Amino acid sequence: MIQEINQGNAEQLHIRAEEVDLDELQRPEFKNILEDLKDTFDSIKNSTHGLSMNQIWKYSDRPFRVFIAWKPEQDKPEVFINPRGVGSGGTIRNDEGCTSFQKKGTKKKGRHKNYTIVYIREDGSEASFKVGPPWSRVLQHEMDHLDGKTLF
Ligand SMILES: [Zn+2]
Repeated sequence: MIQEINQGNAEQLHIRAEEVDLDELQRPEFKNILEDLKDTFDSIKNSTHGLSMNQIWKYSDRPFRVFIAWKPEQDKPEVFINPRGVGSGGTIRNDEGCTSFQKKGTKKKGRHKNYTIVYIREDGSEASFKVGPPWSRVLQHEMDHLDGKTLF
């Protein structure tokens, strides 16, 4: 189900998301909220590159540490569960925007040029890859969301 995207001052945007216990992956509650994330991303995929659980979370407990984003050379978006990443190759400043701050437009933000990410897929398997711009920026933006950090 498409969820409204949390905006600006919403508390969920400013708290650190919680690691997913891998037993959760088979639970209906987890699958439902993952479907919501996918449906919501699908509804805005022409105007954004990624969406974090913090941005659609409507509950009082902590969001799951999950985001969805495009992956290069893949025709459907990838789900990143419990992602960890490390940057390399220096810093690039470029325009960046956020669907949770739609009225603010874009701003220049410095990000690592390259980013290596390790994560769990929906099926519970581990995956990793390294990307350069523009995907490296998208991944770093979504990682910030999971840490409760916002662009504005
Ligand atoms: Zn954002």
